[in-house]
Amino acid sequence: MRSADCHPVGSHEIVANLQAAFSTIAKTEHSFYACTMETTFPTSARRRTHYHETIAKTIVNPVKGMAFSWSISPYRGCVHACTYCYARASHAFLGYDTGEDFEREIVVKVNAAELLQHEIRHPRLRHQTMIMGTISDPYQPAEHHYRLTRKILHILDSVANPTQITTKSTTVTQDTELLAGMASRAGCAVNFTVTTLDDDLARMLEPRAPSPMQRLRAMAQLAEAGIPTGIFAAPILPGLTDADDDLERLVAAVADQGGHYVMASAMRIGEGFAKPFLDAARRDFPHLVARYERQARVGFRG
Ligand code: SF4
Repeated sequence: MRSADCHPVGSHEIVANLQAAFSTIAKTEHSFYACTMETTFPTSARRRTHYHETIAKTIVNPVKGMAFSWSISPYRGCVHACTYCYARASHAFLGYDTGEDFEREIVVKVNAAELLQHEIRHPRLRHQTMIMGTISDPYQPAEHHYRLTRKILHILDSVANPTQITTKSTTVTQDTELLAGMASRAGCAVNFTVTTLDDDLARMLEPRAPSPMQRLRAMAQLAEAGIPTGIFAAPILPGLTDADDDLERLVAAVADQGGHYVMASAMRIGEGFAKPFLDAARRDFPHLVARYERQARVGFRG
């Protein structure tokens, strides 16, 4: 699936754009997807994923217009491939498309920890809350190999910066001890994004992420370790996940698994990621396409 809402680029243009943002030092072709066991969903698309190992220029990003000011993203692109993912739009800045490229061309900032060691000592970042998981999942399968998120957390812990992580991955439980220590010192919370308890629906919306119950069980494990944790029911998709009964069951499941909170946000189909979402809707939910197209037009104006 190629996205038509961003201009098609040749490989030389992709490399040029990457070099503008990073210095590409290597391109590896691993199939982490084949070796990770965290997804239970069968897939017909065992697609090769390209990991672009890059030397980034900065790692702490200022954020405007959100409830937080600083974010850290050791990876760009996300193999979880959620159809509604607003972060798809950010991949176009690197010269990739917002469809399949977002899911298959993963940029790995291999010097993330070294950069953070230097940048975090700037006075303006002192004790500022650092957010991970804004434009890619920090615990996507690449983390099994690169361990960049873990290295970043160790650094944030050493300088007592509060930290908040958003993920759909059960891999976060590998860092339970570290996260519990951070929670007891400067503060740390882990948000699991769960939009539905329906496995079939989740498979269509979030095709390569762990199942909803796997996420809730991971949340339970962190809660048991004393880490503030809960879910983002985000986005709530009109006609798919917005039924009162379903939302009540979701909240009850979070409480049942020991989660501490539920936060939710409405869906916005924004420019830059509308195309992959509408393509998926045409395939999986054709009866909702006209409704989503109307919403996309409003989103574009907003
Ligand atoms: S897990 Fe998050 S970053 Fe990754 S595709 Fe899904 S919504 Fe996007």
